[in-house]
Amino acid sequence: MYPDEFDYYEAGSVGEALDLLNEHSGAEAELLAGGHSLLPAMKTGLSSPDVLIDISGIDAMQGIEADGDTLSIGAMTKYSDLTESDAVAEHAPALAEAVRQVGDVQVRNRGTIGGNLAHADPAADLPGAALASDAALVVEGPDGERSIPADDFFFGMYTPDVGPDELLTRVEVPSADGGVGAYAKKPSPSSGYAMVGVAALLDTDGGTVTSARVGANAPATTSTRT
Ligand SMILES: Cc1cc2nc3c(=O)[nH]c(=O)nc-3n(C[C@H](O)[C@H](O)[C@H](O)COP(=O)(O)OP(=O)(O)OC[C@H]3O[C@@H](n4cnc5c(N)ncnc54)[C@H](O)[C@@H]3O)c2cc1C
Repeated sequence: MYPDEFDYYEAGSVGEALDLLNEHSGAEAELLAGGHSLLPAMKTGLSSPDVLIDISGIDAMQGIEADGDTLSIGAMTKYSDLTESDAVAEHAPALAEAVRQVGDVQVRNRGTIGGNLAHADPAADLPGAALASDAALVVEGPDGERSIPADDFFFGMYTPDVGPDELLTRVEVPSADGGVGAYAKKPSPSSGYAMVGVAALLDTDGGTVTSARVGANAPATTSTRT
């Protein structure tokens, strides 16, 4: 199927994307990141936006920075950049494992961490890892930035805490600091999405587990943490 007609805009900065969202507030506007959830939805008619605002080329939303005890990851950073990053493997081991299990190589070459989390699909792989890693999701809107703990970000299926005039700009992950992280999923034989996926991050002291965070994808209408 072909998507319905839409207007396309390319935002060069976060400010420009926010201006475009404001300008088109009366229309159905969608942000285009890697397009690997949005474009299939448009092709099957599940989504018919009037306006597409392409945010994939915004420089300030790309890249991975280790900043003290926090790993700061731009929302438009692609999965393939995350899988190749030593900083992500070292500081965010549960997230690193989850990213490696997303889709196939084509999906990982286009899809973004921000698109995955902002889509809030309970069967996606990254929400559980964000929950287990105690990540904070930074959203920017007309009134400035909000930092939202992953625990509070996923309201329900496809319903993240991002307003229609806002966008997710980066993900901040506290360094696992020697902790042990993992992600395992039972994939659907047809789609490869998680029928169930579990991420865990453990702190240990001399062979004793001192704390554990576990995030699960797919068993409920939203990813959850125990
Ligand atoms: C064949 C195939 C297999 C797949 N397998 C898996 C899998 O195994 N596991 C998995 O987790 N995913 C899987 N996916 C989905 C893939 O990971 C998508 O890349 C991801 O769900 C969405 O990220 P994106 O960058 O492509 O976002 P897009 O598709 O561009 O956007 C998705 C939604 O999020 C919104 N959005 C995007 N970025 C932002 C932002 N910064 N702020 C606010 N809103 C934003 C968009 O407006 C849109 O509504 C698969 C996809 C395909 C096509």
